[in-house]
Amino acid sequence: MLSYVLRYSPIYLILTIGMAFLGGLVSAANILLMRYVIDTANDSGNLELVALFVLAITAMNILIGLAETTLSSIVLTKQQYKIQQKIQIELFSVVNRIQFKYYDNAEFYNQFALALNQAENRALGVAQTVTSFVGNITRISALLSIIISLSPSVVLFILMGAAISLFIQKGNVKLKQQIVLASQPIQRRGMYLKSTVYNRECAQELRMHPGVQALLTEKYSAFTNAAMGLVDRFRNRTILYSTGTATTSALVNAVSILYLATRLSRGVISVGDFSALLASCTQLYGLANSFFGIGVSFYEHSVYIQQFRDFLALGQQEYSWGNLEQIPNQAEIIFDDVSFQYDGNDKKALQHIHLRIAPGEKLAIVGVNGAGKSTLVKLLAGIYSPTEGSILVGGTPISRYREDAYRNSVNMVLQHYALFAFTIGENVLMRHVISEEDRKTVEEALRAVDLWDKVSALPNGIDTEMTREFSSGIILSGGEQQKLALARAYAQKSQILILDEPSSSLDAFAETNILSQLYQAGRDKTIILVTHKLMDVKWADRIIVLNGGRIIEVGTHKQLLRKNQEYAAMIHLGTLKSDDNTNHRLRKGVD
Ligand code: ADP
Repeated sequence: MLSYVLRYSPIYLILTIGMAFLGGLVSAANILLMRYVIDTANDSGNLELVALFVLAITAMNILIGLAETTLSSIVLTKQQYKIQQKIQIELFSVVNRIQFKYYDNAEFYNQFALALNQAENRALGVAQTVTSFVGNITRISALLSIIISLSPSVVLFILMGAAISLFIQKGNVKLKQQIVLASQPIQRRGMYLKSTVYNRECAQELRMHPGVQALLTEKYSAFTNAAMGLVDRFRNRTILYSTGTATTSALVNAVSILYLATRLSRGVISVGDFSALLASCTQLYGLANSFFGIGVSFYEHSVYIQQFRDFLALGQQEYSWGNLEQIPNQAEIIFDDVSFQYDGNDKKALQHIHLRIAPGEKLAIVGVNGAGKSTLVKLLAGIYSPTEGSILVGGTPISRYREDAYRNSVNMVLQHYALFAFTIGENVLMRHVISEEDRKTVEEALRAVDLWDKVSALPNGIDTEMTREFSSGIILSGGEQQKLALARAYAQKSQILILDEPSSSLDAFAETNILSQLYQAGRDKTIILVTHKLMDVKWADRIIVLNGGRIIEVGTHKQLLRKNQEYAAMIHLGTLKSDDNTNHRLRKGVD
């Protein structure tokens, strides 16, 4: 974490440590100057000199205070943003390199949420702790120098107090470590519950189902109860340690005062010395205690940093892409004995899939829910890697290609696609809209999905933000959102296009138009379509029927009907939904 701060803003570390060092010296200087004030007032009664000292103290404190606030509120705040920005950007790239399968893993998810949420602040937190450490050391050294120069024997009391304190605090640090570890999972649950209220989709569900409100309240109460339970669990030991610390501190203070008062009454030390020693002892003891607090902070950081490093290592280890930049045109797809099993699932989602898809072929995949359709296309899209066997595209296993090159050639409209709170143009291109040509591409894609009229009528056109969260943007209906996701596919101009139930939210009319536009534009493209609708499959060159993770039938619509097996049964039972009014129009579009 420190190396992040050093790499991205060495000046931040230098300044904060420098300030902490200076702060240590200033607090010692304050004590010494006060000693002179008291002694001068007491011995010579020279008020002018006293005033001069007070003036010196005041001037020093004002100057230091001014320098400190200017530095921390302007220079350091800006540097903090710089560090946060760089760390976050680095994290974005790590996240993109992590295999998607880890998103199915609760353990990973926790680690991931933690890394993302805390990385930037944690780096600053570590810098802060190191700074406190340096500041403490400076203060302790300065105070010890004062005490030793004025009355070395007092150091004995301090050391005794510190030894007892060390004994108590050792247990205290352990206790705090246990509390940190135990509270982490509880806090994460709390964070999740809070976030559901802000999330738009969740908020809608919450309104639709008043009962869920009670569920949420109950779960949130359970979270706070668990947090309170932790307090109870550690209560006795917490009380023991804090009482121990407070008592030792009070006792050491009392003994020091008594000892110093005796020396003052015997005339061994002056009143100024007495006050300086007393202030030094009190401060020193307080500092010794807070030193242990710093130990606890370091431990807290280390727990987190270990998780963070594991997370980064995952990004390094699991990057499963290669270096090949060029995917041949007209690439054939081959599934060579491919099986796949999700982590944590004891059944295989796909078993021994053998499949050749010719360049330019239009392939439809059908099957009942859970048959493995989405899994098959996700493997082809490179979201997951096969557990056994391999998938070749253009004669080369997918994993040998560079990820960006592969994505340019193979594009997928996900069943659960996501639109972002970016502009419409950015959502279509999925990158910055830079040139006039980009704007043309967006327009063309929006025309293809029948959204252009609506978008062009907006004051900001394709630059309208797709959210009302930050600006006066636009909120699209479910069907319009799906159209936009399809426009994205249209604009990508990839040679292989995968559509996973792309028409579930579209009305029949929109569906006919849009899909026929897509197919026309994709005459040369290989299109693989997962669907539940009969009208979507009739255009296909070939249909494969999946069941239980296996291909059970292959053929054209007519061939499969004639076979009168699973496919025919699906049509018969209505598993594949027919919508015959629009069929002829679709065929016309394709032909
Ligand atoms: P389909 O698209 O045909 O409805 P899927 O490919 O989504 O089916 O799922 C195939 C099987 O894999 C199902 O049994 C499903 O429960 C399981 N499955 C899907 N996604 C996951 C996942 N992320 N983790 C574990 N099992 C999954």
